[in-house]
Amino acid sequence: MKNYQYLIIGGGMTAAAAVDGIREVDPTGSIGIVSTESDPPYNRPPLSKGLWKGDPVDGIWRKPKGNAPELHLGRTIKKIIPKERRAVDDQGNVFTYGKLLLATGGTPRRLPFEDDQMIYFRTLADYRRLRALTEKAERFAVIGGGFIGSEIAAALAMNGKKVTMIFPGHEVGERIFPRDLAQYVSGIYKEKGVELLGGEKVVASEAQGNQRALKTASGKTILVDAVVAGIGIEPNIELAESIGLTTEKGITVDEFLRTGEADIYAAGDVAVFYNPALDKRMRVEHEDNANTMGRLAGRNMAGKSEPYDHLPFFYSDMFELGYEAVGELDSRLETFADWKRPNEEGVVYYLRSDRVRGVLLWNVWGQVEAARRLIAAPGPFTRENLKGRLPEKPHED
Ligand code: NAP
Repeated sequence: MKNYQYLIIGGGMTAAAAVDGIREVDPTGSIGIVSTESDPPYNRPPLSKGLWKGDPVDGIWRKPKGNAPELHLGRTIKKIIPKERRAVDDQGNVFTYGKLLLATGGTPRRLPFEDDQMIYFRTLADYRRLRALTEKAERFAVIGGGFIGSEIAAALAMNGKKVTMIFPGHEVGERIFPRDLAQYVSGIYKEKGVELLGGEKVVASEAQGNQRALKTASGKTILVDAVVAGIGIEPNIELAESIGLTTEKGITVDEFLRTGEADIYAAGDVAVFYNPALDKRMRVEHEDNANTMGRLAGRNMAGKSEPYDHLPFFYSDMFELGYEAVGELDSRLETFADWKRPNEEGVVYYLRSDRVRGVLLWNVWGQVEAARRLIAAPGPFTRENLKGRLPEKPHED
C-alpha cells in the first residue's frame, strides 16, 4: 500500500501542473501520480505541431518543480473508496490519499467499426507509432476535420506525405471559422497538396494487400498506407460516476475545483466549471486550461482557496497559418471580421446579444489579455465600435 498526501489520477498536463501548484504551497508533502500511459507527463501540443517541424522529443517532458512526485505508470485506477480515502488500480495496488485529484482527461472517440491499424491520435505512443509509419508509408488518410485532423494532416503534408482528409463538414475548421475564412483555409490545404473529402463519413475499413481500403458513406473507396483519426474525445467520468459525483458530460466542480465529495478535486479536460466572463458552465479541452486549472487545483488541494475564474485561450498551427483564440468560437454566432489583410491578418469577433463571446486572433499576437477583457466587458458591442479595437496599441507611460 502506498500512502500519499496528494494522489493524482491521470498523468497528463493537468497532473503535471497540479504538482507544480502543490509545490508552490507545500514543498514537501508526498505526491503520487497514477497514469494509464507508460510515459511520464509531457506536453501534448508538440505531438501534432512542433515534433513534425524538427523539435526534439526530449523537449516535451514536464519537469516538476521541487520534490518530484512518485509515478505509477501503465496503471489505471479502477476503484475509489472515499470513506476510506483509498484508490485501487487494475493490478490490485492500493493507494491512500489526503487529497485526491481526478485529472483523468478523455479517451478518443472511435468509429463504429473495428480496425486495430487505425491510429486514434492522442498520446506520445500514438505519435511514435505514426512517426514510425512515416518512415515507409507514403499515403495517409486523416479522418476528422477538427484540431487533430487539421494539425496532423498539415504535419504529414509538410513531411512530404500524400494526405487525404475525410470529414463530415464542408470546409476545414468550419465549426469555428466563419465561412469565408474556412474556405480560405481549405484552399491552403489544397494548395499544399492535401486532398479534401468533405461531406463524407468513413463507414468501413479493410486490408487490401499492405494497404487499407476505406469505404465512405457515399460509396467511395480510398486506398492508403495508413489511417489517423481525430474525431473528438469522451471525458473519462466513469470513476467519478462510480462514487456518485455529479457529472454533466464532465465532472462538475465548484469555483475552487472541488467535487461534491470531501477532498476530491477535478481539473483539466474532464472538469465542468463555471466561467464568470461567459456566464456559463463549460468544459475545455485545451492546453492553457489544463495548465492553469491543474495548477490551481494543486494550490487549493494544498490549502489555498482561490477561485478558478480564468478564461482559457487556445491556439493552433496549420502550415504557415497560426492563431490564438479566446472564448466561444462558434461559427453559428454572428461574426465580424476586422481584417488588416483579408484572411491573412486580423481579428474575428463572435457576437451574441451585443456582447463579445469569442475572439479569434488570426496571425495577431500578444492580444489574448485584451480579448479576455472584451469578453468580460458588458458592451454593447457593434461592428462599428469593435473596428480597429484590436490589436491594442501599447500604452505610453
Ligand atoms: P475535435 O476538434 O472535436 O474534432 C473532431 C472532428 O471530427 C470534427 O471535425 C468532427 O466533425 C469530426 N467527426 C466527428 N465524428 C466523425 C466521424 N464519424 N467521421 C469523421 N469525422 C468525424 O476533436 P479532435 O480533433 O479529435 O481533438 C481531440 C481533442 O484534442 C479535442 O478536445 C481538441 O480540442 C484537443 N486538441 C486541441 C488542439 C489545440 O488546442 N490546438 C490540438 C489538438 C487536439 P463535425 O464537427 O462535423 O462533427
